[in-house]
Amino acid sequence: MDFRTRCARGTGVVDDVGHPLAPPIVTASTFAFSSQQEVESYYTGGRGWLYSRYGNPTVRAAERLLAELEGAQEAALFSSGMAATSTTVLSLVRSGERIAAQRELYGGTAGLFRDVLPRLGIETTWFALDEIAGLTPEGLEGCRLLWVESPTNPALRIVDLDAAARAAHAAGALAVVDGTFATPALQRPLALGCDVVVHSGTKYLGGHGDVTAGAVAGSRDLMSAIMATRRSLGGTLDPFAAFLLQRGMRTLAVRMESHERGASAVARALSGHPRVRRVLWPGLADHPDHALAGRQMAGFGGMVTFEVEGGAAGAERVHDRLRLFAKAASLGGVESLVSIPARMSHRGLPPEELERAGVTPGMLRLSVGLESPEDLVADLLEALGG
Ligand code: PLP
Repeated sequence: MDFRTRCARGTGVVDDVGHPLAPPIVTASTFAFSSQQEVESYYTGGRGWLYSRYGNPTVRAAERLLAELEGAQEAALFSSGMAATSTTVLSLVRSGERIAAQRELYGGTAGLFRDVLPRLGIETTWFALDEIAGLTPEGLEGCRLLWVESPTNPALRIVDLDAAARAAHAAGALAVVDGTFATPALQRPLALGCDVVVHSGTKYLGGHGDVTAGAVAGSRDLMSAIMATRRSLGGTLDPFAAFLLQRGMRTLAVRMESHERGASAVARALSGHPRVRRVLWPGLADHPDHALAGRQMAGFGGMVTFEVEGGAAGAERVHDRLRLFAKAASLGGVESLVSIPARMSHRGLPPEELERAGVTPGMLRLSVGLESPEDLVADLLEALGG
């Protein structure tokens, strides 16, 4: 064969890769068949691989791990948390049907429900987190989905997931939970009766701030509808990102333990500080959902929100004086982050919506990373004092 042909065909594939202890990254966008019969068996028996937007071995390996961690029959990965959310909604809800959603939602999800879905004939019925247990079939009339998020951002309120699932099912609706802040290490919504769990994998699942990803897990039936819609919308995860996500998930258990240890130390050090008005961490006995979190979750998580004296100026002062906490959006990575929700995640919301979301001008939100808790506490005390 000509030198050019040899170059072009030189894929260097090794058939027997042995048993690698880290998953191989299969970057191929397309897969070759040996015969038309093999093509037929792909289509009829679902065996093999055709095209990476439809399915890819590296992405599949990470999906299998997530399904196992969630106790789900199936899981699917997406190119972002919002791709996971939008694909889930567009798979399960038709034009003319409604969504019921809690007001305390991640802003991107609220924006999708409020600004985009009405164009497709899907309207949302909004309710407050404290109303969930009392939702009746009449209140959920016409709703195909009940969408909740727990813990919430930034107040870290906890939704009673068993009550949410029961309310949804009594109305013939499906219960979907955004469990990004908890991860399956702390909360398993499917075991509590919910139908689908959604994550921004960009956060704790990836865990290192170097991958943008989304994930959905649930029953085989629901997931096959969601995976079919993913093919059409195209928001599948790239194999490199899937490799990073899987690598992150392999250390999820120990990272979540460490995040929580740090959050506990930080929350306790902030509680009672003369310049701190309030600390919100579900592990504190005075948190409004402490008992529910204790029953429903295997831990209280690594996010801490607190309110300082002096309103917006007080928050800005502490924010700017912190040295170990990077001033950045997002959460769930190795390094600790700080943000002022009223001026970052909830920026531009009218005062009544800020109040409903429990956001005050003097509030700071911390994503406690994997640094030494003593160093983080020292940084906070330094920033608050003097
Ligand atoms: N859900 C929650 C709770 C989030 O905090 C975020 C992002 O901040 C998302 C969903 C969206 O995820 P992504 O940014 O990966 O699209």
